[in-house]
Amino acid sequence: MTGDVEQLPLPDSAEIQGSFSNRETREAYRFLYERRLSPPTMAEWIARAENVLGKANVHTSRRLRDVRDHFEVRSTKVGSDWVYELVGRRTTPVAKGGPRISPRLEAEVYTVKGRFCHMCGATPEDGAKLQIDHIIPRSWGGETSLENLEPLCAVHNNGKRNFFASFSPYADAIKLAIGQATPWERIGELLRSSRELGIWVPSELLPVVGRESHKGDPARRLRDLRVVLGWTIKAHKRKEGRGTKVEYELIADRPWPPEGAQEAVTRYERERKRRKAAGPLAT
Ligand SMILES: [Zn+2]
Repeated sequence: MTGDVEQLPLPDSAEIQGSFSNRETREAYRFLYERRLSPPTMAEWIARAENVLGKANVHTSRRLRDVRDHFEVRSTKVGSDWVYELVGRRTTPVAKGGPRISPRLEAEVYTVKGRFCHMCGATPEDGAKLQIDHIIPRSWGGETSLENLEPLCAVHNNGKRNFFASFSPYADAIKLAIGQATPWERIGELLRSSRELGIWVPSELLPVVGRESHKGDPARRLRDLRVVLGWTIKAHKRKEGRGTKVEYELIADRPWPPEGAQEAVTRYERERKRRKAAGPLAT
């Protein structure tokens, strides 16, 4: 519960008019404001939008999320739905705090992982200035522990920070996905959370959240989710600059198999090999 609810602007105030040019987003703010003491679910917002605006479309869930451009909205997963709580005005992100890397831990990282950049291999002898990097950023729930730390050169540390910053709209979805045990579950949960947040998953994010080391792996995981686990995932392709941008939308998912995704995929591959070995007549 928050004590500064009084400080939030009224839905019809000039501040809200000025903050959100989109009417649907102003309605989303109004709904969150009215329900700030009993925060609504996404399903309730969709119903409300249909009621007030006469329609809901693929962007409706995103409008609720757009309130975050100016306000802090806390989302919590409750059962299969999400609850959105209007907490207050958005404050500038606090300067990076969190546990510092102690000299002892730093020494341990260099001893165990080697004194070179884990992206380009450069060493101090090559003139590289090494820094200790969080493999999974702290803002995504990454820990300050040996497993989650590695040396990077200043150039790659900076480059990685910029690359990851481009994923900030997905931070909530990433946080829910990245701690899962296997890449199938990490990518699957990323797709699920993103669907609830009303966003599609850019292909570049899959290896990051999947924590994959080989370029082709995320494509295999998507295939497994579709073929082995029965999910429906739609790829949206569009031209952007000189390349093609691919985003994934989860259309239908299924519960994780009780034995786990890893085991289900292994069994599928084993049976496929056996069928293949038995020859074409057996298929
Ligand atoms: Zn490097």
